[in-house]
Amino acid sequence: MDIFKKLKEYARQINEIEYSISSNKKEFLEIYERNLALEQEIVERTQELDQANKAFLTLKHVWDLMNSSEPLANVLETLVNSLHGEMGYINSTILQLHEVENLKYFQIRAYSDSRIYRLLNNYLHRPLSEYKLPYDSASPMVRAISEKKIICTKDYLGVINSLLNDLSPEQLTEINKLGISKNLIIIPLITTQTVFGVMLVFSPREDISDKEINFLSLFANQVEMAITIANLFETIRKEAVTDALTGLYNRRYFNESINKELERAQRLRQSFSVISLDLDFLKKINDMYGHSFGDMAISTVADIMKKNARSIDIPARLGGEEFCILLPGIDSAGAMIAAERIRASIEACPIETVGHITASIGVGTYPEHSKNLDELLELTDQAMYKSKINGRNRVTLVSTADDNGWQEVAIGAFADIVNKKRIPVPDNMIGEINEKINATRESMSKDSLYSVVDMISTLYNPNAVAGLTRQKIELATRLAQKLALPKDDIDKLKVSILLYDIGNALIPEDIMTKTTPLSDEEKSKIHQHPLLAAKEILEPISSVTDIIPIIENHHENWDGSGYPRNLSGQEIPLLSQIILLVDAYTAMTHERAYRPALSEDKALESIQQDSGRKWKKELVDEFVGMINATKRKN
Ligand code: GH3
Ligand code: MG
Repeated sequence: MDIFKKLKEYARQINEIEYSISSNKKEFLEIYERNLALEQEIVERTQELDQANKAFLTLKHVWDLMNSSEPLANVLETLVNSLHGEMGYINSTILQLHEVENLKYFQIRAYSDSRIYRLLNNYLHRPLSEYKLPYDSASPMVRAISEKKIICTKDYLGVINSLLNDLSPEQLTEINKLGISKNLIIIPLITTQTVFGVMLVFSPREDISDKEINFLSLFANQVEMAITIANLFETIRKEAVTDALTGLYNRRYFNESINKELERAQRLRQSFSVISLDLDFLKKINDMYGHSFGDMAISTVADIMKKNARSIDIPARLGGEEFCILLPGIDSAGAMIAAERIRASIEACPIETVGHITASIGVGTYPEHSKNLDELLELTDQAMYKSKINGRNRVTLVSTADDNGWQEVAIGAFADIVNKKRIPVPDNMIGEINEKINATRESMSKDSLYSVVDMISTLYNPNAVAGLTRQKIELATRLAQKLALPKDDIDKLKVSILLYDIGNALIPEDIMTKTTPLSDEEKSKIHQHPLLAAKEILEPISSVTDIIPIIENHHENWDGSGYPRNLSGQEIPLLSQIILLVDAYTAMTHERAYRPALSEDKALESIQQDSGRKWKKELVDEFVGMINATKRKN
C-alpha cells in the first residue's frame, strides 16, 4: 500500500528537518528539544502505521486512538501551545481554509492559550472555532497562501478585524490596549500540494530575524507533517472493513455486502436471510461489573457469531451492541436453525464474573418477508424486538401476516381525503396521487405508502423532506417497542405519524399572507388551527376516529405549557408524547432554510434540556438511550 511508503518518506523528511535544525540552528536547539516529544509522537505513529501494514487488523490501539477523539485537533493544539510558550510569542493560531460551493473561508482549528484570545472569547457570542472567517483576497493571509511564503505584518489588528468583523471599535481598542503584538508572522501551511491554511504567530518583538523565520518555517513543516499523517490515518480508517473491538465486519461493509447480495438474489432468484441480534441487559452488565465486562460480553457474542458463520456469511457489528449476520443463499428455515444455534451457544458460554449472558434475535428473509432491503432490515429488527418483549433469549421470525392492518387503514384514509376533497388538491395532481394510492393498495409496500404521504405533504408543506416519513415511523416504532407497548397501540402510532400534520393543509391563506403583526389571539389561533383542522378532516373517516385524540394532543407539554388544552402529565396520551418527541428530533436533525441540521448529539442535548418540561423524563431517557445505543460507530 503506497500510503505506507509515503509515511516512510515523511519519517525520512522529519529526520532531515531534525538534522537541519540541530546542525545549523544552534540557537533554536533548546526549543527544538522541547518539541522533540511532539516529533517523537509523529515518528511513533509512523512506526505504528508501518507495523499496521504487516499486522493490519491486529493493531487495535491504533484504531482506538483514531476512533476515540479528534487526534489532529489534539496534535495541533499541542503544537501551537509549545510554540507560544517557547519563543515568548504572544499567541499562535492555526486557521484552516475551507471551500464550500466555491465560497472560501477560514476557520480556527487551534490556538494557544493567551490573553488576547481570552479577551476575544469574552467579546464574542460563540466559540471562536465556530466563526467562518472571511477569505479576503487583499489580506496578507491570502497573499501568504498564494505566494507560498511567510509574510510579516505590523498591522495585526487589521488582520483580526478582517477576521472578526463583528468586533466594535471599542473592543478593538481594548485589544489594542493589551499593547501586545509588534509583529504578526503569517506562515502558509501546505500539505502534499493542497493548501491546509495558515499559521498566525503574534510576536512581541520589533524585529524578526532570518533565523527566526527559518525556524518558524521548519516548525510549520512539522505542523504540515502532523496534518498529512492525520489525513492518512483517516483514509485508512475509512478503508477499514472491520470493527476494532470485535474484528467483525463494520456497518459500511455490511451495507455494501447486503446490497450486492440483493442484486445477486434478484438475478438468480434465490433467497438470502438476515439475523439481527441484540444482547440482553447489557446496560445492567455495564452498571454492575463495569464497562470492560460489557465489552467482554460483546466480544464473546462476536466470537460465537464468527465461529458459527460459513465462509460466505457476513457477521457484522453495526454499532454499540447492534449485530447482524447476512446469510447469502439461505431461506428462512435455514436461517432459523443458524439463529437458534447462535442463541444456544451464547447462553451456554458464561463469561468471567458476570456469568451467563443471553441475546434476543430476529430473522428475516428475502424475498419471503420483503423485496425491499430497508423494509426487510426493519422487519428483522422488529422481530428482534418481539423476542425482547416475549421474554428475551429467543429467536423470532418475521411474520408478515399481521402487519398490513395499519397500512390498509392509512392508505384508506388518504384515499378518502383525496377523493372526498377533504383537503385542497390541485386538479392536475389528483390523477397522479390516485395512481400512487391504487398501486399502494395493490402492493401494500411501505415505500409506496410513504411516497403517497410525502407527495401529499409537499402540497401544503414547503419544508417537506422526502424520506422523513420512513425515519419517523422507524424511530417511533422502535421507541414504542422499547416501552413494550401493545401492537394495537404501535399500529395506531404509525397511522398517527402519517396523519398528524394533515391539518396544515387547511390553514387559511389570508392568515398566512397577513402582513400586519398578528395579535396574541390570532397567533394562538394559528397554533391551534392545524390540530382543529386535523380533527375536522379525520372525524368523518370512521377507521381513524380512534387516532384523533392522539393527534389532537401531540402539542401538549408534560408540564402543561402546551396547547390546545394545556393538558399535563398523565392526562396526555403517551402516543402523543412520542409523536412530539420524534417530530422534534427529526426536525432538528434535518436542515431548514433558516438553520443547518443539528448533529444527533446536539439534537439529543436540546431534547434533554426540555426533559420533564415538554416530555416525560422517562420517555426522554429511553429515547436518548435508544439513539445512543445504535449510533453509528463505524
Ligand atoms: P435489552 O437490550 O435487553 O432491552 O437491555 P439492554 O440493557 O441491553 O438495552 P439497551 O439497548 O437499552 O442498552 C444498550 C446498552 O449497551 C447501552 C450502552 O451503554 C451499552 N453499549 C453500547 N455499546 C457498548 C460497547 O461498545 N461496550 C459496552 N460495554 N457497552 C455498550
Ligand atoms: Mg441490549
